[in-house]
Amino acid sequence: MSADNNTTQAAARKASGKKRGKPAAKGAKVPAVQPGTEPGYAARKAATDLLGKIMFKRMPLDGELDLRNGHPGYKRLEPNDRSLVRAILGTALRRRGQIQGVLDALLERPIPEKTGRVLDILHVALAQILFMSIPDHAAVSLAVSLAGRDGRAKPYKGLVNAVLRRATREGSALLEEQSAPGINAPDWMYKRWIEVFGEETAAAIAEAHLLEPYVDFSIKDDVAKWQEQLGGELSCGKSVRLVPEGAIDVLPGFDEGAWWVQDSAAAVPARLLGDVAGLRVADLCAAPGGKTMQLAAAGAHVTAVDVSARRLERLSDNMARMGFEVETVACDLRNYEPDQQFDAILLDAPCSATGTIRRHPDVAWLKREDDVSKLADLQYELLTKAAHWLKPGGLLVYCTCSLEQEEGELQIQRFLLESPEFSRETVDAEAFALPAATVNSQGDFRALPCHNPQKTARLSGMDGFFAARLRKS
Ligand code: SAM
Repeated sequence: MSADNNTTQAAARKASGKKRGKPAAKGAKVPAVQPGTEPGYAARKAATDLLGKIMFKRMPLDGELDLRNGHPGYKRLEPNDRSLVRAILGTALRRRGQIQGVLDALLERPIPEKTGRVLDILHVALAQILFMSIPDHAAVSLAVSLAGRDGRAKPYKGLVNAVLRRATREGSALLEEQSAPGINAPDWMYKRWIEVFGEETAAAIAEAHLLEPYVDFSIKDDVAKWQEQLGGELSCGKSVRLVPEGAIDVLPGFDEGAWWVQDSAAAVPARLLGDVAGLRVADLCAAPGGKTMQLAAAGAHVTAVDVSARRLERLSDNMARMGFEVETVACDLRNYEPDQQFDAILLDAPCSATGTIRRHPDVAWLKREDDVSKLADLQYELLTKAAHWLKPGGLLVYCTCSLEQEEGELQIQRFLLESPEFSRETVDAEAFALPAATVNSQGDFRALPCHNPQKTARLSGMDGFFAARLRKS
């Protein structure tokens, strides 16, 4: 027996709670059908593949779920199985710390590296067993089947079976023993939140990330009419919020381009430019165009610039659906030279996107701490360039969907020190119908996922966002 096998069997014994001499795998049910063809197998396989891609290859989930260019196994699934994959992944990513905690308690030693996909198989199965209303036996047997069909995971099939069976019996009690509020956030991120926002707020942010998000709609015109038609709540004065029961594209108003999906926090920066009707406005880093649509709906003549031609195509499709006309420029802003200055500028700089974890739980695990400083350097470069393209007297709004100070508050502090022709115009929460908590002590917009309480927890919150208004003298 190889050392690896010894390790596996010892760990499996601990996991099953059985003593030496009673192999853990004994008594496991033999599947009635050919492994790999059981109902639900393809969905678990796709979920396992995708979790591995996020955690170990840092591939964003949205791209993998794209029905044109995404993961082939996912694309082949029936719609209800695709929903199941998304639900499993959402749970596995939101609850990753708790799941790993249960796993650590059930294993004698960590799963060795080079075990193929054992860790992903276990996380996918534990998400179902611990947090979802899926029969335990289905989660366990499909995980065992997956392990058995993976060359490197095969020797760990017994371990998978034993750990998961024990989790079905002891998982709830183990979860109850967990108490750390930041257990599901990466350590580096949680530490930063505590440093900047304090322990209570850091815990509230982590808590908000556990919930599936609501959907917010920005309305082209007549908010009251569409609030009634869609049957939602108002968020930040202008957006309509609901938890839709089915697909978005069958809701009233989709075909006629009456609204678009946009978090109410993401809709604030364009609003902070004030009345832009008739003005020449540059929307920098514009794609896929949520903010471009707001500016066009408000009557601005918009030039939308983005480095990605592919994302600009999506922007143009979105504009066509809504019936807006804007100029688009595919160009790296570092090489951009407009032929005249703009009346107003919106710069939605590329960022770590840590404000969007509730909506994109993969972001928590895709980002590394050093991404923040690299992005902050790029953001500052873009901000100082954009500043030259603004007419004297014009307003520039700088924003990012990040919770990190380096991508928000600290950029503006440095910019104002180094650019004396600019001054900050503070945000009046009441005038913009914003929750008071979203304006910080400097007068900038600083939204956190735990802000914006509504009737229920699921309907509460907003994306984390930062925006500052900078007036050129
Ligand atoms: N403003 C968009 C909206 O509301 O739909 C979202 C913009 S997203 C946060 C950031 C965008 O910046 C991406 O579309 C990306 O392609 C673009 N980008 C990144 N680096 C850039 C650069 N150097 N020049 C121009 N655009 C860039």
